[in-house]
Amino acid sequence: MAVVFVAEVLVFAPIDRPLKYTIPEALCSAILPGSLVHITVGKVKKMGLVCRIHHIDPQSLTYTLKSIISMIYDIPITHEILIQFYFWIAKYYVCDLFSVIDTAIPNVIRKNIPLKLIPYLQLSTPVCTSIDPKKCPKQYEALEFLKQNPYLLKNKFLERFSRNILDTLLQRNAVYETFQREERIAYTRSDLIHPQHHPIQLTAEQWQVVHSVNESLDQRTFNVHLLHGVTGSGKTEVYIKLIERVIREGGSVLYLLPELALTAQIVEKIRSRLEGLTVWVWHSSLSDGERRDTWFGALNHTATVIVGARSALFLPLNHLRLIIVDEEHEFAYKQNETPRYHGRDAAIYRAKLHGATCLLGSATPSVESIFNTRFKNYKLETLPHRIDHRPLPLVHIVDMRYEPQGHYGVLSRLLVEKMKTCLEKKEQIILFLNRRGYATTILCKSCDFIASCPHCSVPLTFHKTIRQFLCHFCSYQEQPHTQCPQCGSPEIFYRGIGTQKIEQITQNLFLNACVARIDSDVMGKKHKFIHILNDFRSGKIDILVGTQMIAKGLDFPNVTLVGLINADGALNQQDFRANEKTFQLLVQVAGRSGRGDHGGEVVLQTHIPNNETIFLAKNADFNAFIDRELSLRQHFAYPPYRHIIHCNISGTHLEATEVFAKESFIKQLREVFAEDTLHTEIRGPMTSPIEKIQDRYRYFVLIFTRNISKTCKKIYDFSHQIHIPQGIFLSIDVDALDFV
Ligand code: ADP
Ligand code: ZN
Ligand code: ZN
Repeated sequence: MAVVFVAEVLVFAPIDRPLKYTIPEALCSAILPGSLVHITVGKVKKMGLVCRIHHIDPQSLTYTLKSIISMIYDIPITHEILIQFYFWIAKYYVCDLFSVIDTAIPNVIRKNIPLKLIPYLQLSTPVCTSIDPKKCPKQYEALEFLKQNPYLLKNKFLERFSRNILDTLLQRNAVYETFQREERIAYTRSDLIHPQHHPIQLTAEQWQVVHSVNESLDQRTFNVHLLHGVTGSGKTEVYIKLIERVIREGGSVLYLLPELALTAQIVEKIRSRLEGLTVWVWHSSLSDGERRDTWFGALNHTATVIVGARSALFLPLNHLRLIIVDEEHEFAYKQNETPRYHGRDAAIYRAKLHGATCLLGSATPSVESIFNTRFKNYKLETLPHRIDHRPLPLVHIVDMRYEPQGHYGVLSRLLVEKMKTCLEKKEQIILFLNRRGYATTILCKSCDFIASCPHCSVPLTFHKTIRQFLCHFCSYQEQPHTQCPQCGSPEIFYRGIGTQKIEQITQNLFLNACVARIDSDVMGKKHKFIHILNDFRSGKIDILVGTQMIAKGLDFPNVTLVGLINADGALNQQDFRANEKTFQLLVQVAGRSGRGDHGGEVVLQTHIPNNETIFLAKNADFNAFIDRELSLRQHFAYPPYRHIIHCNISGTHLEATEVFAKESFIKQLREVFAEDTLHTEIRGPMTSPIEKIQDRYRYFVLIFTRNISKTCKKIYDFSHQIHIPQGIFLSIDVDALDFV
């Protein structure tokens, strides 16, 4: 019986389900799930990803299908298991499949950019030409040189001989040109990293963790372990030991990090411990070539290690057996645009699909993960001590209410004193402040004017380096005012402190010290931050000022003092996770101190010294913190006791947006859940904490639920059925972390 092959294709265009196409006979054996193909939608040529293939009796086809036009690569570019993963993300995070594949298969893969081919010269054998050394001495010399080096980098040849000589030799068939493929692997340029090679012996505590995770690896079934190891307890070495084992057995490892700034350090460490192993890197700031080669490196090799950002979760590794989620508590794992997936939670699901082990690690695990060790079958591993039983740093709390005004600006007397001593001892300092820029408020002394963004309801920040007022939400820029635009007064004042100002105050205070700054303003410049981190490591920089980018993970043994300029920052927010964020941040930043042989100290500046979270963070009392936090969350039925889905309704027209949010949206949403009030609670709509961003007015609704998959399904259907007027936008964030 004749059959036709029909492919279901996910199209790179806003279409929410796969479309069916017939596969031309010539391509029947080549096209598989995971193949990238060209098709037409309407009359337009598009690209798509084959997700399923059916063999169909042509009689049963009641309508004619279009045919696939061509393939982009001659092999599938991803695995079937990843296609299941895309479907899961779309379902769980209530978004269209299109947005998932758009993220999962980046442009560099769709573009099919060329391989990197390095030209070589190969001597013809037997040597088929002879050159008279008297007539053509240079050509003779070149040929002799090639006889010594019968396979030579073309560039090496051209360093010594001219292109004319080469052309003559090519014409005479004395040599021919060949190409060797080179895989572009990030962070191999030697100027970017300083490998350190001192072999170490794991401690008994570290071995215990390794053994426990090994048991799961032995079983080859899905398991989740949470490694709670205090800062400086040697978690990275545990990861490396496990990587070594998986690689030895031919499996692959995915190592996820929440922050680009951490990548180089980790990659360097794994490479120096596991010599000869290729460690691939994946994040958005790499070159197209590096990204292309990492993707195909994953596809073509076994026993690969990839260190990357959350989007590395979509890489098609073979025999994936271990996923490490480092700093698993980090909010940066959540993508803040559609698809709004959480890197950690998606990693766990991906591990499940592969029957692999997922290892989450942190010095301050998330409330969710701890909950899962208590009430689900995540296995808790602990490293309660620092390496060599180095003490955790001594934390001093400074009550900023009693600091004399204007003394050293925002640096307390104690902090300045300790900085002096530290610099005298040639030790290093980190100053942490979670606000970039110079001044965070710009105001007029005569009237009530505050410079704010015309597109967002937030104040502008003054950035001294670029001499601009800047909006941190939409990047709007404005020339600094010399007089008040409202009343004309020349008395414009800058208030509030950002990292640029701390950098300046510090430099003025310690003229002989070398001060540098790391925040996202610096990050924009490629490799600059790697150079700064390198200079800090080598001791060229004495004081490093930075935002959350330097808060975690980094290991600088000579840092003995950390100053937390404003410990209260996150506590003012209207967010039920404010305590958790603050506790994690304070403990993590403090953990950068005293990691080497000298003890460490921390000066924590606060206006609310009696706050319980600050007190618990001072003592790094994780267990007390978690117990308190879990009981609060249980009392209010907040996550992890229920899931939260955040619906953001925004629109350019204030009144229309408000009417839609408060009438048709909420009414219809309540109808959907009318029979499910036992498991689902709806709150809102309310005006968002930031009322306007990028000229859109914003409202939000929260859905609390105990039955997440059922609720997601209902919301998905609802979001496709509800009529959303023009100019109004609905975005849905499942397990939201950010409520601005
Ligand atoms: P964590 O990730 O838990 O904060 P790291 O893995 O960065 O800690 O380790 C802290 C420091 O201790 C690093 O400099 C690391 O090289 C060192 N270290 C880790 N394990 C050992 C060990 N078993 N013996 C000696 N030094 C170790
Ligand atoms: Zn004014
Ligand atoms: Zn703005």
